[in-house]
Amino acid sequence: RRALGSLGKSRAKFISAEETTGVTFNDFAGQEYIKRELQEIVRILKNDEEFQNKGIYCPKGVLLHGPPGTGKTLLAKAIAGEAGVPFFAANGTDFVEMFVGVAASRVKDLFASARSFAPSIIFIDEIDAIGSKRGGPDIGGGGAEREQGLLQILTEMDGFKVSTSQVLVIGATNRLDILDPALLRKGRFDKIIRVGLPSKDGRFAILKVHARNKFFRSEEEKEVLLQEIAEFTEDFTGAELQNILNEAGILTARKDLDYIGRDELLEALKRQKGTFETGQEDSTDIPEDLKLRLAYREASVAVLACYFPDPYRPFTETDIKSIHSQPNMCYAEISGRVFSKKLDYLNAIVRACAPRVIEEEMFGIDNMCWISAKATLEASRLAEFLILQTGMTAFGKAYYRNQSDLVPNLAAKLEALREEYMRFAVEKCASVLREYHSAVETITDILLEKEEIKAEEIWDIFKRSPRIPQPVVNP
Ligand code: ADP
Repeated sequence: RRALGSLGKSRAKFISAEETTGVTFNDFAGQEYIKRELQEIVRILKNDEEFQNKGIYCPKGVLLHGPPGTGKTLLAKAIAGEAGVPFFAANGTDFVEMFVGVAASRVKDLFASARSFAPSIIFIDEIDAIGSKRGGPDIGGGGAEREQGLLQILTEMDGFKVSTSQVLVIGATNRLDILDPALLRKGRFDKIIRVGLPSKDGRFAILKVHARNKFFRSEEEKEVLLQEIAEFTEDFTGAELQNILNEAGILTARKDLDYIGRDELLEALKRQKGTFETGQEDSTDIPEDLKLRLAYREASVAVLACYFPDPYRPFTETDIKSIHSQPNMCYAEISGRVFSKKLDYLNAIVRACAPRVIEEEMFGIDNMCWISAKATLEASRLAEFLILQTGMTAFGKAYYRNQSDLVPNLAAKLEALREEYMRFAVEKCASVLREYHSAVETITDILLEKEEIKAEEIWDIFKRSPRIPQPVVNP
């Protein structure tokens, strides 16, 4: 085996190579099932005899998809670290240059380097930059060049035999929907794993990982504080959680304290929220016209929450004292088993449409702002989850098993199905908001006057407000 140092720098500046990443599965927390799935691949890469003799099939490509900052790169490095194999990384955008022939030759370089150190891992971040659907609109130009690069990747992946020189290709993207279906076919990226936003328990576990090298007054206090932060950080990514702890560490040092305390953590949390929401924390700072939008948003969320009550997450109160890109409505955490049915998911998608639908209805499509951003994203994400992960829709299960064989043109189908669900959800949501328009107005008025409203009063208004009958909307 050649020493990794011999990988000439000048030859391939765009490749970053590590002999050993030093990252393990212990560094990735939450979503434990992902690690279990990847463990098997690691054993095969390590040439475990148990697998060798049985001729067990190792995927050539693993595609990790999910929002930025959820740990996809970390997972890829952990696979390399656990298997003890070298790691060759490139970014999809590095392949896309206007010079003819560069993309294909860079792909060749990358695979040649990895192969001479096999078993090894190739990681292509933002693979959508090079692997988006062919024949689509050529945004940003360089289409023909990109296509050459993509074809080269396909050729390389088809070319190697699994048994002799095992190179595992890991791709990462947050745009599964625009990937060329050819990439997802058997023998290419035929293991697709979604890396989503962490749950509350997941967030706690991630915080614990990043608190390993930080000082707290005691183990008990650390647990309590991190639980609290996990509670407050719905929709945060692993990278954002890591930032909170780093920031808290810096604040602690600045104040010359020995231990991270509650104040520092909450301060860091506030800052982190600020960086991605440009939020304003003090209601006196919120301009009147934004307050009106905010009140309508919260009222629409409240009405939908009454119309389709979530059995596992009763709402408790809302306010217009602060402004974020996700609704202010608070919910009680109910412990115990969640057993969501398809209808629960559908209702959740309809509920999530409320901020976007009301804003468009009240202020007009050209006059929208960002206060419905997170909810809209959530709706689309839920639809994708329902389709791909639950097996409750037309091709959910097939997708997870041996996806591309059973489901040709997967990305196009996913998009079409998601559009169908979203269209229904938006229509249904608009119909509910029209039917309960009077309740929406009443709740909005109360919010503008008192800045907050409790669940009890919301329910009362919902039940006694006059309704305007609407045509039936069916899925
Ligand atoms: P992505 O590739 O999905 O954009 P990264 O792997 O670059 O995300 O994540 C950035 C950093 O955030 C990681 O290096 C890690 O420190 C932290 N992080 C993200 N997700 C997790 C997780 N699930 N567990 C532990 N740390 C995480």
